[in-house]
Amino acid sequence: MSKHAIITGGAGFIGSHLVDRLLDEGGWKVTVVDNFHPFYPRAVKEANVLAHRSHPSYTLLEGDIVDEETLDKAFAMASGADTTVVHLAALAGVRPSIADPLAYHRVNVTGTLKLLEKARSNKVAHFVLASSSSVYGEDPHVPWKESLTGLAPISPYAATKLAAEQYTRMYAHLHGLNTTALRFFTVYGPRQRPDLAIHAFFKKVIEGTPIQQFGDGSTRRDYTFVDDIISGVRGAMDRSLRTEDGRGAFEIFNLGNSATVPLRDLIAAIEKEAGRKAIIEVRPEQPGDVPQTFASVEKAKEHLGYVPVTGITQGLRHFHRWYDEMAAARSTVNKP
Ligand code: NAD
Repeated sequence: MSKHAIITGGAGFIGSHLVDRLLDEGGWKVTVVDNFHPFYPRAVKEANVLAHRSHPSYTLLEGDIVDEETLDKAFAMASGADTTVVHLAALAGVRPSIADPLAYHRVNVTGTLKLLEKARSNKVAHFVLASSSSVYGEDPHVPWKESLTGLAPISPYAATKLAAEQYTRMYAHLHGLNTTALRFFTVYGPRQRPDLAIHAFFKKVIEGTPIQQFGDGSTRRDYTFVDDIISGVRGAMDRSLRTEDGRGAFEIFNLGNSATVPLRDLIAAIEKEAGRKAIIEVRPEQPGDVPQTFASVEKAKEHLGYVPVTGITQGLRHFHRWYDEMAAARSTVNKP
């Protein structure tokens, strides 16, 4: 009998990679809920799901996670006991959340709560939430451990992710729902969202247009290759859910590379990989951006067998290969 995975946001960057992994493994019936939100072009997401659409174990429900009818259709695809929900749908991005915090709250908090309600009433086996390193805010105690307390997010996006974590924890405590929150650290690789730094910088360096460097280049990020993230998500989906107190299991895990790269080094690595110099426009630091991110991954290693294996140089090479393939495919399509 196959297991059922409901993947919200499965047409997006990380979600489509998770679908690849589950369909390749076999033994999974996969239901994706995604509304093709216009945060970036639909054509990009259509390309992400192209190979999935013809797979017999795959169903795509185009709809909003805030819409209960859409959720009911997804949960009706299998019995709850066979079902793992991996909740990746969200409005992502720190800077746009400052301009429209209510939209972020609607999807990331209300949407998560609606999904938790459906997960509870359908008695699903496990609910896995995509959270974010941004919940750590500007905490100076790096590398960040999951046990850090007093978290103080500095953007609406980060606040919605912390709220979603809290609801997820509460559903384990109150309703016995097994849950896991995964804090992803800046994910990159093939299909990366076009708004994120590596993709946006790469495109501009290749095209010879200026890139905007916010601040003096000293801000640091823990860049994590998407295949490593997917291995961590799979480890989380399979983790032991035993508890002794009758409550649902709940744990938080960082999924990062546990190596922190200054922005100026990232730009230099992109220049090297692209074989071109960047034209850099220095701009002031952006409100909501944190000075550094740096994951401790000891807990994920111990409990999920998570070991990130892709360094930034190798990861950028994979990204570059994919970028060139996409550009070649686009130019073939556009030929008269
Ligand atoms: P993405 O934007 O590529 O994927 C998110 C998907 O969710 C999109 O396909 C979008 O159409 C869908 N979606 C948005 N609103 C929806 C709604 N109301 N109903 C149904 N579907 C909806 O983003 P991603 O980078 O793949 O991120 C996936 C998850 O990981 C998100 O929860 C994000 O916050 C989290 N995350 C990502 C990163 C990163 O670096 N990419 C870092 C930390 C956390």
